[in-house]
Amino acid sequence: MRETAREMARAVRLGERSARSCVELSLETIARLDRTISAFVHVDEAGALRAAEEIDSRRDSGRAVPPLAGVPIAVKDNICIEGLPTSCGSRILDGHISRYTATAVRRAREAGCIIIGKTNLDEFGMGSSTEHSCHGPTRNPWDRERTSGGSSGGSAAAVAAGMVPIALGSDTGGSIRQPAAFCGVVGFKSTYGMVSRFGLVAFGSSLDQIGPIATNVDDVEMLFEAISGPDQKDATCLEGEARGGRHDPGMEDGGPRIGVPREFFQAGLDPVIENLILTVLGELARDGAEIIELDIPLLDASIPVYYLISAAEASSNLSRFDGVRFGARIEGEPSADAMIRATRTAGFGDEVKRRIMLGTFALSAGYHDAFYGQASGMRHRMGEELARAFAAVDVLVGPTTPTLPFELGERLQDPLAMYLSDTYTVAANLAGLPAISIPAGHARGLPIGLQIMGPRLGDDLVFDVARAAAATPSCRDAAERLSSWPDGSADQGAAE
Ligand code: GLN
Repeated sequence: MRETAREMARAVRLGERSARSCVELSLETIARLDRTISAFVHVDEAGALRAAEEIDSRRDSGRAVPPLAGVPIAVKDNICIEGLPTSCGSRILDGHISRYTATAVRRAREAGCIIIGKTNLDEFGMGSSTEHSCHGPTRNPWDRERTSGGSSGGSAAAVAAGMVPIALGSDTGGSIRQPAAFCGVVGFKSTYGMVSRFGLVAFGSSLDQIGPIATNVDDVEMLFEAISGPDQKDATCLEGEARGGRHDPGMEDGGPRIGVPREFFQAGLDPVIENLILTVLGELARDGAEIIELDIPLLDASIPVYYLISAAEASSNLSRFDGVRFGARIEGEPSADAMIRATRTAGFGDEVKRRIMLGTFALSAGYHDAFYGQASGMRHRMGEELARAFAAVDVLVGPTTPTLPFELGERLQDPLAMYLSDTYTVAANLAGLPAISIPAGHARGLPIGLQIMGPRLGDDLVFDVARAAAATPSCRDAAERLSSWPDGSADQGAAE
């Protein structure tokens, strides 16, 4: 049985174990397993041991230690930490060292978390498999020939393999939830504005959120509580009074009203996933939940709307990578223009170039209204449809992904097939809603995720329903498999 972050922090607080021993366990597990998984792109062994020493001496001298003291955390490599490299999985940031620390990381540290290192991702977060990383792919701990998902595949795989109990990822269209589903762990994206984006390298600014990944709902909520809150450094971060009160699903008197959109159960969904999700819904109904089927027709437009808007924002955000201020530069060109062109040509990978071209086209004079304008209008209407649905139900539930983790290489030549991995996750980003993926079971030895989406500011409600879902027999079975995972497969890793 592996320790949760909460148990680990408690043991450190009570002096039953040292923060140093937590860090050493993490470093040993990385040394043993990451050769075949490749979750980390940078391990900060010296920094982690130093931070552990500080916590240990603080506790030994009788001073209070914070709630997550001693818990090792992995951070996705598009989140800045002063003094450490930030690659964003891109050659264009080769050699770049961050000069400041993201607010979410600062807060995690203040809560006692110890940064172990930076994890792999698709270049600038663009992808669903980590295959679009200049560092190569992160392999799925449950089957090394398959993807860990993406773009936060490194963070999800690191947690699943027990290298760290918790990690930070970022989610623009599903990049926390989809890899969490593929790796059999829990991943949460909050209401837009609950977590500061300061220090997160921007992909689609109106969609991006930093969020937690862990083995269980309680740890995810605890890390979320630690990193969220108003921040002067991010104008889109919600102020205190705008953060709203607790939504009560009324679990005591009859359980939550769970909406099941038919759009989440159409062609393209693997029947083994459909069956498992329906089983969990049945188990929730037996526990008192009311299951309500409904139609939210604009969900069907999620993928085209998301890929237009996110690419448009990315094309603008990525204009700052010009070889002048950050990272790599191609020298010896005759003019500044030529230097910028050569640097961007050599520095960006194919998927990033595809998005920049698509986004630039969608925003260009003469096409703006037909593409970006249309997509923005659809986004707005989709948000209204979802808000109407939440007048009748507490949460929406469905699968996190339409398929099981796919094989490495399987979708690399087919961008559309890759984009369809995000079919069920992008709506929460477009509408700014909170959503979580929890492990719901396994098929063919591979994990399956269940997604719970809540109304705006219904983050607590999502956690409450997630805990109820995690208590069903199917989800409990998935959690037990994860808890005993490394013992079964660690040998496989060592033998390879
Ligand atoms: N897979 C989606 C994309 O490629 C989502 C990425 C993300 O959430 N960062 O855009």
